[in-house]
Amino acid sequence: MKYRNRVRSRISNLKDPKNPSLRRNVLCGAILPSLIARMTAEEMASDELKELRNAMTQEAIREHQMAKTGGTVTDLFQCGKCKKKNCTYNQVQTRSADEPMTTFVLCNECGNRWKVRAQPGGLRAPQPFPSPGG
Ligand SMILES: [Zn+2]
Repeated sequence: MKYRNRVRSRISNLKDPKNPSLRRNVLCGAILPSLIARMTAEEMASDELKELRNAMTQEAIREHQMAKTGGTVTDLFQCGKCKKKNCTYNQVQTRSADEPMTTFVLCNECGNRWKVRAQPGGLRAPQPFPSPGG
């Protein structure tokens, strides 16, 4: 009986239209169902935890997008592990448009991953083709 009430409170939390991030986090795997089962209503509502979960979700989405799109192959970055310059990068706008882009770099040689905060103008995009007559 008690347990059933607890489950109902989880479900109402998950269905809460004012709390879409919780549902999204559960759906995308940022919050494990087993974790939700142990969470209290206070925990689910905590702003601090929401922030943390949001960050985790954003990170997961970016990683996912990066793996999916493949990114741009470049030699602008050097891998700190294998020192090769065979890398793929993806630039992602974090949070607000005011903040600099975050560049996610993946080493094609050893699979090492890291991210850099792109300075304005600090990262030159590879020139696709020389423009004729220019
Ligand atoms: Zn490497």
